[in-house]
Amino acid sequence: MYKNLLMSVLLAASLPAAAQRHAKKAEVSAATVERVLTTLAADDMQGRATGQPGSLKAAEFLASEFQRIGLQPLPGAPGFLQEFPAYQTAVTSTSVLLDGVAVPAGQVLALTTQPSLNWTEKDEVALLVLGPQDKVQPHLGEIFRPTKNTLVLLDPSQTAFFKSLAERYARPRLRAEPTGNAYSTVLVLAPAPASPPAYRVAATTATTTQTLRNVAGYLPGHDPAHAAEKVIFSGHYDHLGILKAVAGDSIANGADDDASGTTAVVALAEYFKKRDDNARSLAFVAFTAEEIGGFGARYFSQQLKPEELTAMFNIEMIGKEAKFGPNTAFITGYDKSDFGRLLQANLAGTRFRFEPDPYPEQNLFYRSDNATLARLGVPAHTISTDQIPTDKLYHSVDDEVSSLDVKNMTAVISAIARSASGIVAGRQTPTRVAPEKIEK
Ligand SMILES: [Zn+2]
Repeated sequence: MYKNLLMSVLLAASLPAAAQRHAKKAEVSAATVERVLTTLAADDMQGRATGQPGSLKAAEFLASEFQRIGLQPLPGAPGFLQEFPAYQTAVTSTSVLLDGVAVPAGQVLALTTQPSLNWTEKDEVALLVLGPQDKVQPHLGEIFRPTKNTLVLLDPSQTAFFKSLAERYARPRLRAEPTGNAYSTVLVLAPAPASPPAYRVAATTATTTQTLRNVAGYLPGHDPAHAAEKVIFSGHYDHLGILKAVAGDSIANGADDDASGTTAVVALAEYFKKRDDNARSLAFVAFTAEEIGGFGARYFSQQLKPEELTAMFNIEMIGKEAKFGPNTAFITGYDKSDFGRLLQANLAGTRFRFEPDPYPEQNLFYRSDNATLARLGVPAHTISTDQIPTDKLYHSVDDEVSSLDVKNMTAVISAIARSASGIVAGRQTPTRVAPEKIEK
């Protein structure tokens, strides 16, 4: 009896304390939405391209917002900026002799991350000769993901393909690992020789390290029974930077993509901090490098245990009205967990509604930063309003604040806050994403 009595006294003392925590009055602030959106999408952010000064400026601005709101850094992190390295290899010189004749530099393209190349016909190099009639398509795997060093002699009639490659590789790509593929491809514009040629192929490269940064803040959960469980609210703050000028404007402001989602993350952080009643712990993160391969989300995911993550609300392009009209948004990967159904249920009786992604053929579930965590089983979905099949402003210099409906966008953010209430409070737990429902 005593023991049981003590237990019930303890339970009575501890359980309601957590459950009774009163929410302070809070609303998503329209002023915050307007200010953060216009700051991120302003010309002085230079389109927030990863690795460019505008991106650093945006990251520092977001960190200052998290500071102002009163978030904490992620557990164990020194601050709001989550920095990590990425690597980039630029080819600094090439020279090719074919049967003793030097090939002009403009007709040579080395795809390599090795410090240097020095090949002759005596080395183990695969020779691929593509004549005027040969299709390049079946050989793209050998060219881009070589499993041995490969020299490609490409007939001059294929110059258009060569030029498009050269343009694409003029800006070296980032990668997460210090070393890239151990094998390289060198393409040379040259007519097919009558017999296998004698050759000398040389190239040198320079690899540089860049610091990339996510911006992440944290609100620890108030309920000891749920505080170890984390809910993530995310958007990507990077965009495309400077593009070819259209009517004198060359800055891709990325107001919708994804200053809008990043703004939502800040506004939601402010909202949940004001309420001060989250049972689960909440992480707010602005990812870098989404547009160039999702490096930010991948690094962020690797720092956390997926089994501790209850859900991810990734927010992408919520600045324009959805195809279902005002006060609507859609959720990607709707059938992959019951996340969407829970959110919908929490909006019942409001003028807002969420719909399943109406563009499954666009593969949006896999095209944003939620996919990294979804592949690890986390109910990680993207919320969007973009009418992507007909959005002429997508990835153009005209993706500006003036094209957005900030009032509707604020309504979307408020709906996200409301739809998340059960998950934030520990009352609802979405089902995990099953590996068989995921494309690798
Ligand atoms: Zn985006």
